[in-house]
Amino acid sequence: MIFSWLRRRRRQKLLATPFPAAWSTYLEKNVEHYALLTPDEQARLRDNLRVFIAEKNWEGCGGLELTDEMKVTIAGQACLMALGLEGEPFRGVMSILVYPTSYAVPQERQYEGWSIAGESQRSGEAWYRGPVILSWADVRRDSRHPGYGRNLVWHEFAHQIDMLDRSTNGTPPLASGELRRRWHEVMTQEYQQLITDAEAGRATLLDTYGAESEAEFFAVATECFFDCPVELRGDHPRLYDLLRDYYAQDPAARLATN
Ligand SMILES: [Zn+2]
Repeated sequence: MIFSWLRRRRRQKLLATPFPAAWSTYLEKNVEHYALLTPDEQARLRDNLRVFIAEKNWEGCGGLELTDEMKVTIAGQACLMALGLEGEPFRGVMSILVYPTSYAVPQERQYEGWSIAGESQRSGEAWYRGPVILSWADVRRDSRHPGYGRNLVWHEFAHQIDMLDRSTNGTPPLASGELRRRWHEVMTQEYQQLITDAEAGRATLLDTYGAESEAEFFAVATECFFDCPVELRGDHPRLYDLLRDYYAQDPAARLATN
């Protein structure tokens, strides 16, 4: 109780100060949707972003010196995807770790009964009740070159949304039985289609990495929903409508009027 009161007071004080002018420039440059939001949505995004930046523990790794532009870009994209969601879906994410580029993590693999130590190269990770880890080179590339259906921030934060019900299975908490039924039907069919297309070597709008598991499918579909919404609406209308209803945003309408 006392903590929520203290948090509320801290937030009020923070939001009473002017929004840094440079931060608006970073949003305009690195978050394509920002300029297309209504003034009311922009104001909400700016407030959510300041709280997000202030309340997370930010850490530069591998010698990276974190800048305001990095924080505003990451927080701006995360807060944009959550703009229509209830509550504070990223409240459980305590830390954001940022590497300059992709990074190596130790990985053990099995070969004929032997455990072989090795490394795998990663550009991002999301841990249950733990940090989100991102490569700045990848975040910057996706931010500066939108429209390719890939976005590391949306991918990793989609995993965080998925994990809100404590299971990483591609289904976040859903508001109604009707939505759960629809989710199961549409997601299963689209996921199976992506597996079939990937196996047949057919070109797909959705990244075939989404064929790895239901959890990766939700993350990949979310990337495409925000980064290539017009194309997703054209090629996968049922998937688009489902994600539009879930995220309570219509990015295709937003980008199509641009
Ligand atoms: Zn993933």
